[in-house]
Amino acid sequence: MRKTIRDTDNNETLKELKINCEKCFGLCCVALYFSKTDGFPNDKKVGTPCINLQSGFTCSEHKNLRKKGLKGCTAYDCFGAGQKVAQLTFKGKDWREFKDLQNQMFEVFVITRQLHEMLWYLGDALTFVSNKNIKDELNSRIQEIDQLTKLDANSIMNIDIEKYRTKVNSILRMTNEIVKDKIAQYKINNSKDKKNLKLGYDFIGTNLTDTNLIGANFAGALLIASNMKNTDLKGANLIGADLRDADIRGSNLEDAIFLTQSQINTARGNYKTKLPKSLERPSYWEIEK
Ligand code: SF4
Repeated sequence: MRKTIRDTDNNETLKELKINCEKCFGLCCVALYFSKTDGFPNDKKVGTPCINLQSGFTCSEHKNLRKKGLKGCTAYDCFGAGQKVAQLTFKGKDWREFKDLQNQMFEVFVITRQLHEMLWYLGDALTFVSNKNIKDELNSRIQEIDQLTKLDANSIMNIDIEKYRTKVNSILRMTNEIVKDKIAQYKINNSKDKKNLKLGYDFIGTNLTDTNLIGANFAGALLIASNMKNTDLKGANLIGADLRDADIRGSNLEDAIFLTQSQINTARGNYKTKLPKSLERPSYWEIEK
């Protein structure tokens, strides 16, 4: 009998959304605005290369990011948009050599990253669903968004992102309802010795260890430095939740929905934390007890 509420762990879409810095031109380290207070080396504008970005598009501080407190860098995940923009959209032409392409490339990267993020959520949704109609709908949204990421640079810059986001959000909400049905019984069983989750989205620094988190709606919630140690987050909706320094040591997030690598990278977990198969355990977690 399957222990997970996912229909499958195997999803080709998710596999293609992994970052591959070797095939990128350090786009996230130049195209984005970032600030020191968010865990980056300094304050910088869009289009200015980071002070640590080397000539070969590698980071001079790569091995020391965590030690130096550069949490913004360790958390960032482009969902594989960087390598696609570098190799497919701009066919291997880098922004240092082809200066006339710089602005366009940086803008396209930001848009493609949003499209890849939508693909991530759609791919994750697909792992929970067995209903044929919903599966077909998810697959056609995936195909549609994937085709957009393969357009030329000018066409990508003209995409109406909000139009596609609305369509994607609608099917994600439907998937969330399916997950809620699936975990209803687990939620009831767990409610006997746990408190109910209070309504709201501000859980900064909150101790949630004695709360029933099965099926919790944490969409957009602030879970910064919350204590969720040894909790079961089966079916919990974590879309857009801020998990910075959230304690998830020993917790079960195997069946949490809409969880991303970036969220995991910012949280405090350990070797006992259970993750979905599509996500990687940060190497620095191993030393956390
Ligand atoms: S410190 Fe390294 S990883 Fe962080 S933005 Fe700069 S070059 Fe990129």
